[in-house]
Amino acid sequence: MNNLIDKIISLRDSRGWDDHDTPENLVKSLVIEAAELLENFQWGETSYDEQNVKDELADVLILALALVHDLNFDLNKIIEEKLAKIALKYPTKK
Ligand SMILES: [Mg+2]
Repeated sequence: MNNLIDKIISLRDSRGWDDHDTPENLVKSLVIEAAELLENFQWGETSYDEQNVKDELADVLILALALVHDLNFDLNKIIEEKLAKIALKYPTKK
């Protein structure tokens, strides 16, 4: 995953986009891209443009990973910690 983050940051920085990629702007863009992803399912379609879903999902993930990088978070750690919280909050019924 760190290799992916390196690629994302390298592409961004090589184009000078890091100047405006504040955490606030990244989160705003993430929400906008999530809405673009939702558009694929807006009217409860049973079919969708798979390539567009992939593209919009990638946009969301790229922005999320850039935010992880810029805030100096440990991706594995924050996900492991959240999964543990979820498991505690919603115990198995078995
Ligand atoms: Mg998009």
